Amino acid sequence: MTARLLTALREIVGANGLVVAADQRLVYECDMLVYYKGMPDLVVLPRSTAEVQAVVRCCAEAGVPIVPRGSGTGLIGGAMAPKGGVMIGVNRMDRILEVDLRNRYAVVEPGVINLALTRSVENRGYFFAPDPSSQMVSSIGGNAATNAGGPHALKYGNVAHHVLGLELVTGTGDVLTLGGVVAERPGYDLAGIAVGSEGTLGVVTKVMVKLTHTAEAVRTAVATFASIEIASAAVSAIIAEGIVPAALEAMDEPIIRAVEAGVHAGYPTEAKAVLLIELDGPAAEVEVQAAAVGRICREKGSLTMRLARDDAERALLWKGRKEAAGAVGRITHNYVLQDAVVPRSKLPTVMAEIQAIGARHGLVVANVFHAGDGNVHPMICYDERVPGEFERALEANEEILHACIELGGTVTGEHGVGMDKAEKLAMLFNQDDLEVMHAVRRVFDPHGLMNPQKVFPSGQHACAAPSVGAGRPVPEGMWV
Ligand SMILES: Cc1cc2nc3c(=O)[nH]c(=O)nc-3n(C[C@H](O)[C@H](O)[C@H](O)COP(=O)(O)OP(=O)(O)OC[C@H]3O[C@@H](n4cnc5c(N)ncnc54)[C@H](O)[C@@H]3O)c2cc1C
Repeated sequence: MTARLLTALREIVGANGLVVAADQRLVYECDMLVYYKGMPDLVVLPRSTAEVQAVVRCCAEAGVPIVPRGSGTGLIGGAMAPKGGVMIGVNRMDRILEVDLRNRYAVVEPGVINLALTRSVENRGYFFAPDPSSQMVSSIGGNAATNAGGPHALKYGNVAHHVLGLELVTGTGDVLTLGGVVAERPGYDLAGIAVGSEGTLGVVTKVMVKLTHTAEAVRTAVATFASIEIASAAVSAIIAEGIVPAALEAMDEPIIRAVEAGVHAGYPTEAKAVLLIELDGPAAEVEVQAAAVGRICREKGSLTMRLARDDAERALLWKGRKEAAGAVGRITHNYVLQDAVVPRSKLPTVMAEIQAIGARHGLVVANVFHAGDGNVHPMICYDERVPGEFERALEANEEILHACIELGGTVTGEHGVGMDKAEKLAMLFNQDDLEVMHAVRRVFDPHGLMNPQKVFPSGQHACAAPSVGAGRPVPEGMWV
């Protein structure tokens, strides 16, 4: 039976569209949240919707789990296979199929890299607005599946605001077109349901996205503060004044140290916190807003403020921000990254609470976050070689999440749910809510084969399939 499936899949994608050897499948056993591991029994690399459809149909017939995967940069334990089965890597489906600037949209295959779409239209004055800090490697299919955010989500919104439609191969192998390139469509917003569904409804095989016109003017400023709490208070003050910056990012002292050691982005190393503030729009408006932001930061206690002089300086400031997560490797062996949200006005409170939690556990917590959205990303530093540190980091992580919820926040801002936050969903939704979500899922994936053990809490809300257990690799050859 399973040998038959292997043969059938080889016939669909060809021998070079399969990753069979265990050492080659190793790279697929986790996403960037590496402590959830589960190796697929086989990886298939289709080149077209028809191939995806045929693969899904064969797996569905054999009752084998299916895990879609883009670039594997997720931070949730999403594109990994706790129950083994077949992983569908869409990286070979990487064509930009259509660009229509008059109607401001593009149609892309799911493996197109986020930044590649912007690069393909920027010389004509357009860009793809969603910019997760992983944009140089993450795929648009993965961005849609996780409803990714990013620094500029504050003004431009998450991926959901830029997806007009999707092509989806469901868990039964049906090919659906949800939404379309025309913005306003009657009926249920099924594309909206598919965005953020993290591969639990099907495999995204095409994405229709909005393209955005480049702003006339952009100003980027770095303001320094004596503490991350004071910087956080300035964030609310800026937005309360009626100014919505394109981006409003915060970094604390450990992050500044890490970034400057590696990237030399130009953040003042004596600062305890910086805000990276970007304004864009019509030139006249941007100048007025830049002056107002300068005044508000001063009133709120900023120590210095500097505007990037040119595009090169601006690009360097952003390079520092976008490479911050990697730069943290200079100050710690390992870290646990949290992704939670608080109401923006609660940022100073939660920042103080995060520092207190870190101190209680004897761990440094570095903070780089989308402050304008109230989306915090504490990185709890630990050394896996020191007995007990990992466990303490996980405890601190849990306490931080609870602190965010108690302040009126939510369990994920942009990374999604995956395995990591699945149990946490029960903190926000009651049984009736979860049952409705299950019912929606069953419409697309009646057998619960698509990306099992992700998104939904286990126990009574679990899908029909039995649980293998978070983080435990499935024994090799379970079905082969
Ligand atoms: C350094 C760094 C910075 C990051 N910064 C941000 C940030 O600023 N904002 C943010 O939101 N995220 C960020 N992320 C997280 C991650 O990059 C995003 O979640 C991204 O959208 C994942 O895209 P991917 O192609 O890597 O997807 P993967 O990791 O491959 O998959 C993510 C999820 O989507 C599903 N999936 C992937 N492709 C498909 C498909 N074609 N059809 C159906 N389901 C699919 C997978 O099953 C999985 O559940 C960052 C990650 C890193 C490592």
